[in-house]
Amino acid sequence: MKKVKVRFPPSPTGYCHVGTARMALLNFLFGKKHGGTIIFRSEDTDKARSKREYEDDIVDSLTWLGLAWDEFYRDSELIDTHREALKKLIDAGKAYVSKEESMREPGKEVEVVRLKNPGMTITFSDVIRGEITFDTTELGDFVIARSIDDPLYHLAVVVDDGEMGITHVIRGEEHISNTPRQILIQEALGYERPIYAHYPLFLSSDRAKLSKRKGDVAVKEYRAEGFLPEALLNFIGILGWTPPSGREILSLQEMVTEFELENLHKSGAVFDMEKLRWFNREYLLKMRDDDFEALALDRLRAALTERKVEWSEGVARKLMRLVHERVSVWSDIDELAGEGEFDYFFSDPQPGVAELPQKNTAPEEAARHLEAVVQMLHELPDADFSVPENIKAVVWPYAEEKGRGNVLWPLRYSLSGRAKSPDPFLIASIIGKDTSLRRIKAAIGLLERMRQ
Ligand code: GLU
Repeated sequence: MKKVKVRFPPSPTGYCHVGTARMALLNFLFGKKHGGTIIFRSEDTDKARSKREYEDDIVDSLTWLGLAWDEFYRDSELIDTHREALKKLIDAGKAYVSKEESMREPGKEVEVVRLKNPGMTITFSDVIRGEITFDTTELGDFVIARSIDDPLYHLAVVVDDGEMGITHVIRGEEHISNTPRQILIQEALGYERPIYAHYPLFLSSDRAKLSKRKGDVAVKEYRAEGFLPEALLNFIGILGWTPPSGREILSLQEMVTEFELENLHKSGAVFDMEKLRWFNREYLLKMRDDDFEALALDRLRAALTERKVEWSEGVARKLMRLVHERVSVWSDIDELAGEGEFDYFFSDPQPGVAELPQKNTAPEEAARHLEAVVQMLHELPDADFSVPENIKAVVWPYAEEKGRGNVLWPLRYSLSGRAKSPDPFLIASIIGKDTSLRRIKAAIGLLERMRQ
């Protein structure tokens, strides 16, 4: 096989979406697997819609995902080769200049370049779809340039692929119908035909084409939400592809090792957000505690600035285990924080006195149990307090004897002020002995005042 050369040729007419990322990933996997060269080619032939801002976003997003390339080109800078190719076609009588009314400005005459279509049947073999045949007669003499200086996409892509020696064109199936046109131009210019592989597109959960209207498709939005690049890349990779090992969680290098174009599915895969969240959670769970903490602490601090709580780095660090268990993606931290789920770890809650006793028990009884717990916790050495099991060990026998709910409900509620929260031992171990005792005593005070 000739040395493999593949390309990522996005049109910079919008932000990098997951489809662009997939196109780049599949080409990357194939290119790397075969020790080939990878070309990034910004196809900015559509002057009206192309923007440098979009190109920058595509470069940035693919880089963030961990993809890389060997060479970078911009179509607008390759115009000389396009012009030469057009001249060559015209000189050889394979294309001609035609004076026509402008499509864009009716009434105005323009000179477009049309390919002289020999009108034959084109058959090409597609690695994923098998043999595909088109009758090109009905395409007529189609336009390949708006003028000699303004080539259209079909001409540019064929000349670029031909000049760069692209061996494999791996792209979405929306380009299948473009292929016969491109082969006609290719043959007229005498370029070798690359190997084609057209893969099906991602579908949204209603099985329609994934689109901006149907939710987030821009990579930068997933990034802002706090998905991990490796998780997003892995998810994009295995959607519509079954690696021979059957594994789903794979690093980029492992995907390269397992990749074969032939194993891409023939039908579209659903881009399922829940599955993506699951993937991300798997990656978060695999993360070392130190790495998790470094990233989660900043997110938590930022999320809590609006909550008017007393930030404590020490408490936040102790909270990390709990955070690690509860989040699938970084934005979950913002959401939980926004719902006040972390407030009581930092600032004393304002428990409602009516809710303090367990249902159907008297305030005096709740106060009595809390008094007993204060005694027990008081005697527990500070050093033991950081381990929830130690706290549990001293309180549990008493709770068993008096009725778990009767003791543990007022205890937990006095610590968190919330009907739902983690168990009281975990909360106490995070907020520490002094804070725990202060809150329990405050709750006893409330209950006593209620009695008077
Ligand atoms: N620039 C085209 C696009 O973004 C890709 C062309 C190709 O793969 O041949 O859809």
